[in-house]
This record gives sequence, structure tokens and C-alpha cells, in this order.
Amino acid sequence: MNIVELLNSQRKFFSGDATKDLSFRKKQLLRIESVLEKNESKLNEAIYKDLGKSGIETYSTELSFVYNEIQYFIKNLNSLSRPKRVSTNLINQLGSSKIYYEPLGCTLIIGTWNYPYQMTLVPAVCALAAGNTVILKPSEVASHTANVLAELINSEFPPEVFHVVTGGVDETTEILKHRFDKIFFTGSPHVGKIVYQAAATHLTPVTLELGGKSPAIVTASANIKVAARRIVWGKFLNAGQTCIAPDYLYVDADIEKDLLEEMKKCIIKYKYTKDAENYSRIVNSKNLYRLQKMLDSGSIYFGGEFNEEQLYIEPTILTGVTWEDSAMQEEIFGPILPVLPYDDLEEVMEVIKQKEKPLSAYIFTSKSSEKELFIEKLSFGGGCINDTVMHITNSNLPFGGVGNSGIGNYHGLFGFLSFSHQKSVIDKATWGEPDLRYPPYTNAKRKWIKRLQ
Ligand code: NAD
Repeated sequence: MNIVELLNSQRKFFSGDATKDLSFRKKQLLRIESVLEKNESKLNEAIYKDLGKSGIETYSTELSFVYNEIQYFIKNLNSLSRPKRVSTNLINQLGSSKIYYEPLGCTLIIGTWNYPYQMTLVPAVCALAAGNTVILKPSEVASHTANVLAELINSEFPPEVFHVVTGGVDETTEILKHRFDKIFFTGSPHVGKIVYQAAATHLTPVTLELGGKSPAIVTASANIKVAARRIVWGKFLNAGQTCIAPDYLYVDADIEKDLLEEMKKCIIKYKYTKDAENYSRIVNSKNLYRLQKMLDSGSIYFGGEFNEEQLYIEPTILTGVTWEDSAMQEEIFGPILPVLPYDDLEEVMEVIKQKEKPLSAYIFTSKSSEKELFIEKLSFGGGCINDTVMHITNSNLPFGGVGNSGIGNYHGLFGFLSFSHQKSVIDKATWGEPDLRYPPYTNAKRKWIKRLQ
């Protein structure tokens, strides 16, 4: 089936209103859950081939997110979808005001390779829960997971409800020529702009989940041991190929030596070695070489080993790095952590503020004044105080970027809203209406209108 036929079939199905039925939506969600549960070993095998990701990490950073999102909607879909009554202003008395949540229609979801199940299926769950149809285009860079998604979803779902199409730039360019009712894109800011332009042709609303350089800051008041282990875990998870990984680290110069020492201990303890099952691989040699070039930034404090055949880069800490170095020129998206010492926290905030708004930011501190400074001064998509990455696991929080790191957000309620139109309706009584708004206009009417508004 080509894209035109596929889209037409989804349009026709959507206009028949079958997706408005909440039990239909829940059935689709439970079907995703059961397909994944039945095929976990196949899914694990595919992701191991793409990224060397272990079974436990595949569960904890990919599938569990999809299961949790499904369970959230099974529990909350009825109340989320119920029309919401809001108060009615004086001039609209006697009347009642409600917000109706209606599905947008046929949606396109374009995913990335770094978390190839989470970044595709969580938005798909939100879209289906909100009553839309879905065409999903995973990243061709993680080809095994893209193929397994296509095989499993396409054999279990009617194409007019949910269908996976595979392909790279050419295929995506072709798909983007067509009119969708919503495009949800996860990927780089560069491609995000291409998607946004294509969407603009049809006035299609978008959610853009993008990336950027996310800072972590460790102040002198921080618990150094806790900071070290949480930064090391968040940075080297998935070999640093995580959109919300700390990209670089600012540390108070007085504690730099102690923090570096602790981080080194953690890296050794966590056994991120060449043969380790619990350490992912770089997705391809193109990215390996891109990352290798960054090793000329500052000097290597720890790590630096890489192996092309095994697509392995050792967790690497760079010191003496400046903003002129290659590692600071673009999002790293790999297991390299540049460390920059600082003397003045306010100055650090100013430097970060001058850069593009990051997807995430982290601070390790025990002082409330420093926490306040971080929240007050910096604009970022989401983040943590005294942790890294974990904000993504709370589906009561919207997940998304700001400025260059994205438009819109999702997860839980926010995912539902992202794929819904909020239709506002006032239902008026046909009696008890003053004559104020109708001509002929008089001074007395004008006074009353002013008073009532
Ligand atoms: P990418 O932008 O290269 O690719 C993303 C998707 O766009 C893929 O499906 C790809 O096939 C498609 N694509 C690529 N070039 C295209 C083009 N010219 N026209 C149309 N479609 C095109 O991103 P990536 O390399 O897969 O992922 C890395 C980036 O994604 C990083 O910047 C990372 O921070 C970001 N990211 C963000 C999030 C988030 O939730 N905000 C999550 C994961 C990754």
C-alpha cells in the first residue's frame, strides 16, 4: 500500500467516528501491550543488534515507558475525555461553558534511533488514546528495530488504524508532502526545521521533540558521591546517546578534583567495558568517527579508548575544555563528558543563558539559594535538582523542550492534550436575556456593557 492509499484509508476510517469510542481506543492500547509482551525476546534481539542494548535496559528505558503510558490511559482515559465544565462569565449568563476533547485525525509520528521503541510507541499510545489514527515512521538508522516494529505492528493492526512505514530521508520527504492532522517529530533541531516547514504548507500542528546541549552543574555544596554516581549513570546510559543526558559539566573549581575522582570510581565500578553486556554500542561508524574527533578537546582525564569493529567508545571524561573546543560546538550524543571548572555560579548561569535553550538542565547542590538561582535564571525543557534524567519517568510532568530544543510536550495528560483539539462551547438558555448587545446602541447600553465586562 503506498502512502496515498494508506492515508486515504485512515482518513476514511477516521471520518466514520469509530475512534471516538473509548473502548475502541483502549482495545488498541491493550493490543500494543500484548504484542510487546508476546514479543519481548524478538524486540530485545533487534535492539541488541542496533545498539548493543541489554535486556534489562531495554525493559527499564524503553518498554516499561510504553507499558506505563498504556496503563495510565487505561486508568484515566474516561475522565480525560469527559467534557470539562468551566465557569461562565457574566455576559454569557444564563449559559454553561464546556471544553470538549476531540481527536485531531490522521497523525504522523517520526522517531529517532536512540530509544527506538520508547520514542515511537509512547507518542503512538498518546495519539491512539486521544482517538487518532497513526502512521509511524521509525528511524532507518536503527534498522533492526524499525523492521521489527513494522513486522509486529503491521501484522496486528489494521492499516487504517495504526501502521508502520519504514524508510530514510527520501521516503520521509515524500510522506511529508501529504496533509496530516498532526505531526509528532522526535529528532535533531536541524531536521525539526525541515519537518516544521513541511507541516506549515498544510497548516498542520506539530510537536517537535528536539535536542541540544544539556548542562549539569555541581556546586561546592553538593553531595559529591551522589552527584558523581547520578551524573555517570545519566551520561553513560545508552553510551551517552540520550537526548536528556548531561552533555557537559560545570563544576565548582574547589571540588573539581574530588568529583572527578568519584566519577572515575563509578565508571570503573559500573564496568562499562568493551565486553560488558550492560553498556550500549555507538549506533554506527559514522557516529563513532564524529565522536572520535571530539577527543581532541582539552585533555583526556579518563577513558578515550575506542574500537571501530565493536562500535565501542569507553566512557570518557575530558578536562581543561573551553567553549572553543569541538566537543562544545555541537550536541555530543555519545559517551564523552567535557568538564569545565568555574569560580562564580552566577557567571555560569549567564554563559548558559547566552546559548540555545537546552532540552534539560541539572544542578547538584544542597543550598536553596542555588536551587532558586537555577530555576530563576535558566530556561530549559525539564530537568532535575540533585539527579539526572529521572524527570522523564514521571508522567505527571510534561516532557518536551523549549526554544531550539522543541515545541510542545507529551506524557500522560500532556500527551492526550497534544493529540486533541480542545473545542470550546457555550450552551445558552433561550430565555432571560437582556437586550444589551442588540442595536440600536445607546449610551445606557454602553454603560451596562462596560459594567458587566
Ligand atoms: P534526526 O533528526 O537525524 O532523525 C530523526 C528522524 O528524522 C528519523 O526518522 C529520520 O529518518 C528523519 N529524517 C532525517 N533527515 C531527514 C530529512 N532531511 N527529512 C525528513 N526526515 C528526515 O535525529 P536522530 O539522529 O535520529 O536523533 C538524534 C537527535 O534527536 C538528537 O539531537 C537528540 O537530542 C534528539 N532526540 C530528542 C529526543 C526528545 O525527546 N526531545 C529524544 C531522542 C532524541
